[in-house]
Amino acid sequence: MRRVLAWYESAARDLPWRQPDVSPWAILVSEVMLQQTPVARVLGPWTAWLERWPTPAALAAEPSAAAVAAWGRLGYPRRALRLHQAAVAIVERHGGDVPRTYEELLALPGLGDYTAAAVASFAFGARHVVVDTNVRRVVSRIDAGVAELRPSARSRRLAESYLPSGSDAPGWAVASMELGALVCTSRSPRCGACPVADLCVWNAAGRPAAAQSVRPSAGWNGTDRQCRGALLQALRDADAPLPRSVLVQSWSDPGQADRCLATLEAEGLLHGKDPVTL
Ligand code: SF4
Repeated sequence: MRRVLAWYESAARDLPWRQPDVSPWAILVSEVMLQQTPVARVLGPWTAWLERWPTPAALAAEPSAAAVAAWGRLGYPRRALRLHQAAVAIVERHGGDVPRTYEELLALPGLGDYTAAAVASFAFGARHVVVDTNVRRVVSRIDAGVAELRPSARSRRLAESYLPSGSDAPGWAVASMELGALVCTSRSPRCGACPVADLCVWNAAGRPAAAQSVRPSAGWNGTDRQCRGALLQALRDADAPLPRSVLVQSWSDPGQADRCLATLEAEGLLHGKDPVTL
């Protein structure tokens, strides 16, 4: 563990949400944005978001549609709604300050175990197991000798067994995440640059391949996800609410577009039946 912490000191990326003077709100926003979007695509929107809404109160004072519109191309726009809901709850329950404890964070709408643990650790220095896909992959390889355990009680217990006592815990969380992101990557681990290569069971075993997934990987073109993204982008680009017929016809498969509009409405991402707006 000491080796991973030392490696992090010299190799970590200089990311703005890791600066010492960053607010808990800025860290919370980064954690939500980073959940399903790569770092490079988050940097610009994160900066713009915090310039516009530097506090939870600033976001809570605007309609949720503004958050969805500002989410841009980050993908999975439900996260924008969840952030807005969390901002409102922070104002109502905590006087506008992001709460410090894991339990209080977990009680906010839309925050799950990972985000609550990450914010408690990175914003407030608390000791929590923070398990994202990078951490899970690293401990799976070092300790269990497999390419990557699925999220499970076993993988969680394994991650817990690495949690240091005391003040090293947040440092270990971010360092092990970074090791997974930069060195122990999913497809091309750079074991020659790894600070714990000699301890790694998976590496010693010759890096056996993971069992093949039986689920075929979904393409992107023509998926409901692509359609939903295109519909939201059309609404963002429009200066005014758009007639439903125009929106539906803007997509190559109007039936699919109609169905996707209904799911976006059901999730609260759209307003108005016809015309439709964010
Ligand atoms: S030796 Fe390779 S597989 Fe093992 S933890 Fe390091 S980078 Fe990952």
